Amino acid sequence: MSTRAPSSIEMLKRLVAFDTTSRNSNLELIRYIQSYLDGFGVRSTLVPNAEGTKANLFATIGPEAEGGIVLSGHTDVVPVDGQPWDSDPWTLTETPDGNLHGRGTCDMKGFIAAALSHVPAFQNAQLKVPMHLAFSYDEEIGCLGAHSLAERLVGSVPRPRAVIVGEPTMMGVVNAQNAGGGIVATFTGFEAHSSMTHLGVSAIHFAGDFIHWLNELQEELAQRKHPHLDTVPNHTTINVGIVTGGTAGNILARECTLNWGYRTLPGDDPWEVQRRAETYIAELLLPKMKARHPDADITLKRRSFVPGLLPQENEEAARLALQWTGGNRTYAVPYGTEAGIFRGHGIPTVICGPGDIAQAHQPNEFVARSQMDACDAFLRKLIRWAETH
Ligand SMILES: [Zn+2]
Repeated sequence: MSTRAPSSIEMLKRLVAFDTTSRNSNLELIRYIQSYLDGFGVRSTLVPNAEGTKANLFATIGPEAEGGIVLSGHTDVVPVDGQPWDSDPWTLTETPDGNLHGRGTCDMKGFIAAALSHVPAFQNAQLKVPMHLAFSYDEEIGCLGAHSLAERLVGSVPRPRAVIVGEPTMMGVVNAQNAGGGIVATFTGFEAHSSMTHLGVSAIHFAGDFIHWLNELQEELAQRKHPHLDTVPNHTTINVGIVTGGTAGNILARECTLNWGYRTLPGDDPWEVQRRAETYIAELLLPKMKARHPDADITLKRRSFVPGLLPQENEEAARLALQWTGGNRTYAVPYGTEAGIFRGHGIPTVICGPGDIAQAHQPNEFVARSQMDACDAFLRKLIRWAETH
């Protein structure tokens, strides 16, 4: 039985030590959290993925009542591969400026650590409404776990009042975010010796045409600003993140794969980019490719979709979160989070967590100690509120 509550930073140190890069299982970390909660007498539920290799964790503290607050975070982190780190990414390392370095410190084990370190305080408080903990897997590769987590949440507990997704916002309250889509484009050409270009069709060259088209589309969409929101950048963006293909310098490549995605301003049609890509391929690019060889092909496969978040649907959550941060305004962000998924299940949701998104996914990722302190203060105010509502 644990008797003493670890500080948020002590807890962060423990969480960072688990390498929960999305390609790995998160079960070790999840089991650690489960046994930590057990130690305080809090029962938790795991919601595994189909293969049983990963799991969401869900727990409720306090009365079985409506109007609770969900503290939500993802347990996975992005890879450190090829990044020049000055310290071990899996060891929380504080520098003299008070920054706590380690993979996942800001995105987003900082928030999870703060929530966990307050579990004893939740237990000891006279909560009138429950606190729900909802931790997911595979956020970084398309918010895959959050769908089953959100379903479980709405299916198994009395209706919560708000979800706080603790992604890094410097503890600002974010009530608008872009939608995002991830797509894999596979180009299939026809191999030939590179001196005989008339005999084959290079998948890479046609993939190059597609990338060029995406750039032009991005330039066009950049002209369309959102009338009210001050998201930076304030337009739809497109990125090709991974290109693979080809087997040798002197062979026309048979296959080329593009892993690409886009982010659409909240309120804009989140399917526009995919639809236009499908049209361009069907009407222009594929016929051109097939004219070179009938077996040539291009397929688009959706890898992920994250819905956007609009302010007007989340006023209740924003009002509450602003009380606990002491802030006086809300913000819009260009990146996608699990917030849109929770909102899609009908619960007002905002994003608010420690750390700066600028440090997320970077080498030497960090969260400032002062941000962890601000998150602690937020949770203390939340507890006081839950004792009186
Ligand atoms: Zn994140």
